[in-house]
Amino acid sequence: MPSVFRGSLLFFTSDPKDDGEQAVHHIEDGLLLVDDNGLISAVGAYADLMDTLPAGVNITDYSGKLLMPGFVDCHVHYPQTEMIAAYGTQLLDWLQTHTFPVESQFSDFDYGVGIAERFCTELLRNGTTTALVFGTVHPQSVEAFFSVAQRRNLRMIAGKVMMDRHAPATVLDTAETSYQESKALIEKWHGVDRLLYAVTPRFAPTSTPQQLQRAGQLLAEHPDVYLHTHLSENLDEIAWVSALFPDCRDYLDVYEQAGLLGKRSVFAHGIHLCDRECERMAASDSVIAHCPSSNLFLGSGLFNLKRMDDYGIRVGVGSDVGGGSSFSTFDTLADAYKIQQLQGVNLDPYRALYLATLGGARALSLDGRIGSFKPGLEADFIVIDPNATDFLAFRTQHCNSLKELLFVLNTLGDDRLIAATYILGELAHSRAQPPLSTGE
Ligand SMILES: [Zn+2]
Repeated sequence: MPSVFRGSLLFFTSDPKDDGEQAVHHIEDGLLLVDDNGLISAVGAYADLMDTLPAGVNITDYSGKLLMPGFVDCHVHYPQTEMIAAYGTQLLDWLQTHTFPVESQFSDFDYGVGIAERFCTELLRNGTTTALVFGTVHPQSVEAFFSVAQRRNLRMIAGKVMMDRHAPATVLDTAETSYQESKALIEKWHGVDRLLYAVTPRFAPTSTPQQLQRAGQLLAEHPDVYLHTHLSENLDEIAWVSALFPDCRDYLDVYEQAGLLGKRSVFAHGIHLCDRECERMAASDSVIAHCPSSNLFLGSGLFNLKRMDDYGIRVGVGSDVGGGSSFSTFDTLADAYKIQQLQGVNLDPYRALYLATLGGARALSLDGRIGSFKPGLEADFIVIDPNATDFLAFRTQHCNSLKELLFVLNTLGDDRLIAATYILGELAHSRAQPPLSTGE
């Protein structure tokens, strides 16, 4: 017997920048059917599908609410959950003052489990169902995160930080131990249930060339794992990279020389890239995770989305908690809009929501599994309530089009908009009591 959900369905099948409104699918009164394995089995209009339902099936009725694929967060640090909103610093000071002391606690597996539970709960409350996640340098941090994500059936990508210089001893490994520990984690966790591994050097300044070479070796030995790191976030950082790697043509070249570029390589930020870096990002099919809230909070700079589009570089969006100041994708998208406004560009609400769903899935090469509503995809989805607060109900009743409604939700929304989050068709978060099921 399938699980059946009724509501207003919204999803994307391509990028609105290429296909305009053809990319957007809105079924005002729709049904989403989920099979016993948690996969979508049918999507369509209630009027078309109701006669195909087995007799006696229950329908979970979300009429008046929007059902969308779950959000994809392409860059976030679970160990920084407890230090979100740390005052007064930019990137390099922020790492030394706030981040490294907090991350040193994750040598304790049980401590990691506690924070991972809080982190996953917070993601689900905000409608995020998949994320590309930094651990800390301690392999226990990744063991803890994957244990929690596995118990909750989540599709998650994570990895142990590789960091062998320019940080306190409590958060350092070596080129050799980082290789051995990452390799053991890949063998234990990559492809188990819904979990995938990312080789995770923190960023060029905290790795020796020898360690970056070892990261490249891991990718060569395990071609279907990911590479996850930071790139070109802050001007002081870029100057430091150039001093540390005088033989490299630019920041990206540090990673390129170590064999770290490719289709599954995700670089957070990419704010200050030169033309050569953009060309190499595009030619290698590497990905940028744009983290607008973090870029504003840490004063890092204004990301030029149009330039990435012109080069044909895949882009996803990330919260970058704790550099980012919110777990909410609505906050991320609202900040993305403002960053583009400062450069004279309007970020269309369809494009924004595409980037947070199918665009994120494409950025993570997971669009064959998540990110849209299509038979065979995994049924991770969210229920958005446009009337979640008295004021939202007031504001949205003045919307004259779907596009306007979505822009208002993107701009004003927060965790209260997420009425429910489903993982593989099972309720994983509900703001209120679960809705009543009605027999049909
Ligand atoms: Zn980050």
